[in-house]
Amino acid sequence: MRPSESLNALVQQQKAFFNTGQTRPLAFRLQMLRRLGQAIAREEEAITAALAADFGKPPFETYATEIAILLSEIKFMERHLAKWTKLKRVKSSFLNFPSSDAIYAEPYGVSLVIGAWNYPFQLTLSPMLGAIAAGCCAILKPSELTPATSQLIARLIQEHFPAEYLAVVQGGPEVSQALLELPFDKIFFTGSVPVGRIVAQAAARQLIPVTLELGGKSPCLVDETANLTVAARRIVWGKFLNAGQTCVAPDYILVQEQVAGPLLEKLAQTLTDFYGANPAQSPDFARIINDRHFQRLQGLIDKERVYAGGETDASTRYMAPTLLSGITWDHPLMQDEIFGPLLPVLTYQDLPQAIAQVNARPKPLALYFFSEDKKAKEMVLTQTSSGGMCLNDTVSHLANPHLPFGGVGTSGHGNYHGKASFEAFSHQKSVLMKPSTPDLPLRYPPYQKKLDWMKRAFKWL
Ligand code: NAD
Repeated sequence: MRPSESLNALVQQQKAFFNTGQTRPLAFRLQMLRRLGQAIAREEEAITAALAADFGKPPFETYATEIAILLSEIKFMERHLAKWTKLKRVKSSFLNFPSSDAIYAEPYGVSLVIGAWNYPFQLTLSPMLGAIAAGCCAILKPSELTPATSQLIARLIQEHFPAEYLAVVQGGPEVSQALLELPFDKIFFTGSVPVGRIVAQAAARQLIPVTLELGGKSPCLVDETANLTVAARRIVWGKFLNAGQTCVAPDYILVQEQVAGPLLEKLAQTLTDFYGANPAQSPDFARIINDRHFQRLQGLIDKERVYAGGETDASTRYMAPTLLSGITWDHPLMQDEIFGPLLPVLTYQDLPQAIAQVNARPKPLALYFFSEDKKAKEMVLTQTSSGGMCLNDTVSHLANPHLPFGGVGTSGHGNYHGKASFEAFSHQKSVLMKPSTPDLPLRYPPYQKKLDWMKRAFKWL
């Protein structure tokens, strides 16, 4: 069998299983969520080891950003799923009198989840939680750039779930593209903007609903009223977590001119506080994923602009957490998402100017603003567009399952986390339920004399 034929066979197998209806009962979904949660908890050591092998991810970060976040999502879903799956009654329309109306969350069917490498465990399994909760089957395609983690995901799913329900297919772009040709009922993609376009086009050819979790340059604004000590800590934490390889990492700082100097000093001091005088020796700082990305990032280190850091070691793919000052909008660092431990600092004169500069660029996945000025915060909230935002923090909004997480514009469309994950894999089916009697004749032809009555009725709406 050719690879595409075996992939198609797997999809057909899942379709047949989905059509048996076994994935739909609430009890089955809860049981599968619980089973996955227990498996993840049992495999904590193996998960930590796989991520360390793939790119030296510190155990603390693995626990916080790959394991705990999934376990808390599972708990959240277990707690709320009964409510989400209930037929949701809505008001009926006067025009349809008499009727009772409701929304039924119907599972899409067989879904494809394509994951990115930077949080390879969490980013592949978190969408799958939505698929399970919604009553779907799923095929996962984890990233080929994290082979140890992808292998672990494949083993974990194979050991605990039948392939006609959940399955893992490993491979690179060719495998991804072969999968995108198949008749899925839903596609959920996490990755870069250019590949997001390829996925969207493939989905459009078959009119498959698609969620795109993409990236971009997420700005971090700091004004003169900000608490600079706290801002520096929260920015350094959010930026250098996972060595800057985070979709919602602050990509660059845009700071009000007067406080640029003090902020840079505090950022540099925080780097030393967090990672010591030589971050290469810190057990708390990850490495760059591969040589290609290492070379790309090295090319962006403008030695003349380095304010702190700048050291690299190609043999271990170590790149120091680096601050670059005096950067302008036309600098190479400001063209594409950096996705690494380089933090350029730009300045602005007044807030409307900063907002205009942000708004002149593609809509980011996240936007951060540090300020103690209520009016300024209101301005940034209402006059900018981004997937999500934090006021006086970075990154943390994605850890609240009550907040839908996703992009806008080129940073993606659709949301997930918590209820939004359930909704991402569900079709909201409108249901109108009408008794057979009475069967009011107003809407039926012949229409003679009914038009005036209809117009009068509309005036009352
Ligand atoms: P990527 O787009 O290179 O790869 C993502 C997935 O797509 C991988 O599984 C890969 O095998 C597959 N792929 C690669 N090329 C393909 C092609 N030509 N056709 C079909 N499939 C293909 O992204 P990445 O490097 O793994 O991840 C980094 C990017 O992802 C960054 O831009 C980052 O901002 C973004 N990201 C976004 C989120 C989010 O939640 N919005 C989360 C993490 C990462």
